[in-house]
Amino acid sequence: MAQAKKALAKKQRGSSGARTLANTYLNYIGGRWTPSESGEWSENRNPADTRDVVGRFPVSTNEDVDAAVAAAREAFDSWRLTPAPKRAELMFRVGEILMRDKQEYTRDMTREMGKVLKEAGGDVQEAIDCTYYAAGEGRRLHGFTTPAEMPNKFAMCVRQPMGLCGLITPWNFPMAIPSWKLMPALVCGNTVVMKPAEDTPLSTYNLVKACEEAGIPPGVINLVMGHGSVVGARLSDHPAVRLISFTGSTETGQRVASACAERNAICSLEMGGKNAIMVMEDADIENAVEGAVWGAFGTSGQRCTASSRLIVHKKVYKKFNQQLVARAKALRVGNGADEKIEVGPVINPDAVEKIMSYIDIGQNEDGATLACGGRHLTKGDYANGYFIEPTVFTDVTPDMRIAQEEIFGPVTSVIPAKSLDEAIEIANGVQYGLSAAIYTQNVNRAFHAMNDIYTGIFYVNASTIGAEVHLPFGGTKGTGNGHREAGTQVLDIFSEWKSVYVDYSGKLQRAQIDNAKAIG
Ligand code: ADP
Repeated sequence: MAQAKKALAKKQRGSSGARTLANTYLNYIGGRWTPSESGEWSENRNPADTRDVVGRFPVSTNEDVDAAVAAAREAFDSWRLTPAPKRAELMFRVGEILMRDKQEYTRDMTREMGKVLKEAGGDVQEAIDCTYYAAGEGRRLHGFTTPAEMPNKFAMCVRQPMGLCGLITPWNFPMAIPSWKLMPALVCGNTVVMKPAEDTPLSTYNLVKACEEAGIPPGVINLVMGHGSVVGARLSDHPAVRLISFTGSTETGQRVASACAERNAICSLEMGGKNAIMVMEDADIENAVEGAVWGAFGTSGQRCTASSRLIVHKKVYKKFNQQLVARAKALRVGNGADEKIEVGPVINPDAVEKIMSYIDIGQNEDGATLACGGRHLTKGDYANGYFIEPTVFTDVTPDMRIAQEEIFGPVTSVIPAKSLDEAIEIANGVQYGLSAAIYTQNVNRAFHAMNDIYTGIFYVNASTIGAEVHLPFGGTKGTGNGHREAGTQVLDIFSEWKSVYVDYSGKLQRAQIDNAKAIG
């Protein structure tokens, strides 16, 4: 029996002793799994059933961050000098491991984050896609050549890594978003310190574990878990960290950006959204309703691309609302580990409080019509989790707070519009610019909207969610600071350009001077 227990404990630890106790997880610094020097742990609980402790995770300190940065610094030269196709070979191996263990990661994610199994599987799949796609860049990482203005001179431009990168990630896509940042950073030759969200460290741990197993060398990836106000803040302040890539709330993003500005570090921000689906009078209403339900209530509305505004032409407003409300009411809310469930819990008690306060604002301050939902579910199967009914507000006007502010929960607002032009004006009339969509059968309307909507992502006859990893992802206005993740555009975050001139004339040639004379 004791033998069997030992064997189980060994299996749980894996080859490198990652778990010192069942369900106790460690930081990963310089290739070693180590507890925080604080000796403190925080318990991570399942948001669908808080009696279920997912694990104990380190509450790390400034010293832990400093140790991780030192390890990343030490590993940098040998990683940057490893040819990119070789770096990519290791990354392809990561992809294979992620594929192999997809089911397990999916279950872990549903347990720690709450999203339903299908969506958690999609999150893991996105990490797999992103890993393979970024690894493919190992044999490209294109620069360019261009003619030099002098004879016997060659000009080219090559990418070089940034150096040490800090990756600060949110809880809503706990494996996909870390992989969006990690994989391009690695292929470009950077070393990294990762800081996952407090509520979802396990999925990032799983990603890092896969990287370790694939043979990514010690120090290239470091993982430090703990509070954002300590670990994230120290990382943003650290003089050796050249770049911070952040995804999270607007408020925190601004704080991170200020810290980076203080020390001239580069900062890439991905923040909020208040995304609109426009439904025109000629739309396929059934399809539009399906898109709205998926966009508004998938991941319990906790996506930066959530369809939190539905701008519907007056001619189909009633019909659309009837179908939407019927669909929203029929959604099965519960523990996402049950395959029949369609809407899982929200992430934590703070989220419940914030979302419920917006439901109150919608009814009592804004004066919108609560068409369905609106309740915090606390009885029976819901007693130990954070469940909120899928909620639809109708008769919403564009200036209402529920139509302007990011709620980040299963709440959507239907706003009537009398024309496409008005719909576009409403869609653009928020501080964010991440994603938008139009449902119409008219190609002219679709292109008109595509041209005039000021967002980073736009869909025709599809919801505001569903980005693919080989296209750039990001937003305009308050959503970010102009960077794009995913696609090849992400390489511009994680590498810097170096212009190289080779003069093979054997003599001094002065640009702008000697050739000007030659021409003149
Ligand atoms: P949310 O409100 O959605 O949890 P946050 O913006 O607070 O989003 O969190 C996103 C990430 O930023 C998390 O990993 C969090 O720990 C981290 N974070 C929180 N506060 C800070 C901070 N002051 N500096 C750096 N990172 C932070």
